[in-house]
Amino acid sequence: MRAATMTRQRDPEELRVPRDRFGGLFRDKSWHETPAGSLLDTPAARAWLKLVSEGARAGIYTHQPPLEGRSGPRVEVDGHSMLLLSSYDYLGLVGHRGIEQKAVEAVRRYGTGTGGVRLLTGTKELHRELEAAIAGFKDTERATVFSSGYLANEAAISALFGPRDLVVLDELCHRSVIDGCRLARVPVRRFRHNDPEHLDAVLARHARDRTIVVVEGIYSMDGDVCPLPDIVNVKNRHGAFLMVDEAHALGVLGRRGRGSHEEFGIPSSEVDLWMGSLSKAIPASGGYLAGRGDLMVYLEHGSAPFMFSAALCPSATAAALEALAVIDSEPLRRVRLRRNADQLRGGLQDLGFDTGKSASPIVPVIVNGVHAALELARDLWLEGVMASAIIPPAVPRSESRLRLCATAAMRDEHIEQALAAFAAVGGTRRT
Ligand code: PMP
Repeated sequence: MRAATMTRQRDPEELRVPRDRFGGLFRDKSWHETPAGSLLDTPAARAWLKLVSEGARAGIYTHQPPLEGRSGPRVEVDGHSMLLLSSYDYLGLVGHRGIEQKAVEAVRRYGTGTGGVRLLTGTKELHRELEAAIAGFKDTERATVFSSGYLANEAAISALFGPRDLVVLDELCHRSVIDGCRLARVPVRRFRHNDPEHLDAVLARHARDRTIVVVEGIYSMDGDVCPLPDIVNVKNRHGAFLMVDEAHALGVLGRRGRGSHEEFGIPSSEVDLWMGSLSKAIPASGGYLAGRGDLMVYLEHGSAPFMFSAALCPSATAAALEALAVIDSEPLRRVRLRRNADQLRGGLQDLGFDTGKSASPIVPVIVNGVHAALELARDLWLEGVMASAIIPPAVPRSESRLRLCATAAMRDEHIEQALAAFAAVGGTRRT
């Protein structure tokens, strides 16, 4: 008998059912068996364990899928090829041979770890080269690299602001900025998302001597773009500082991928502090702050993550450095990215899905409620499509969603398969 006929022929749909990621932890035990007085006897732990265990049992838990290789439009999960629709790899640079080559060379030359924090013995010449390249990219005097974008945001706010100052946030700003504010114990006011008039009103009423406005170049959950020139006018009128988080904008906005200032043709110096991530359009990890030289030198001494957390590892540093060069030398990637984003967004809208205010590669598919998002992700999974369900605390419950990201690596057939899968599972979820 041939081997193939000895193995049970399984229904392909059965093969694709999301697997239990918890090693059977919840099979015989339910979340409410967590003993009173244990470490998990908190409202937050109970709520999460209830959601996760029920989701795992119901087969709608599609988070933490362990990919078997590189990220890309097609990935291997649980032995199956899946279409991946939620990768931050906007320019399709994961797997770029030149970038990987530089990362491998960096490991050979500098090793796998740095053995230190940046301030003491962790700084390599590579870090300085990367910082010079970022400063050139953002047209600033200096840039400083941190081991994640999250830490860069936290570092900036907590080192520069305190209880006597004020941070004014767009209401959709990222958690890392909010956590920086908590650490700084600085008062926070929010203005309505992308609403410069409301920002004006908030500043008129509440501005203090040292007030900073924080916005994102492209908003991570909604995929809309910040109206930077209007924000700049308002903050100038009130003498406030401005910080722009470009985690999703670097490499994506602007003719040469320089980000928001290039997109809108405003001088980089209108923004006091640029922040970006090295884990999205740049296929590495880490984050940076960029601005005036003296400001950066202060942050290298006055911000905790630079002093108390290990330096970015050599492979990521070298990959990021080479990726900046590739962004310059391969501009067609941005053209493909925009075309793919337009096709994906337009196709979903034609099918009747609510893509919110998306005007970038980030395309939300908004549904009403946590379970609706988890179930939609599961239904797509059964069709061979992976799309991340985003639920509270990242977004309000009623705006739970799938968050799709177009990438330059997607080909027409990937977008066609994505749209066919959405058409197949659409049902009542359309607007
Ligand atoms: N800011 C925004 C807007 C983000 O979306 C993210 C990551 N998702 C970060 C900051 C943090 O960046 P990193 O992943 O490099 O820590």
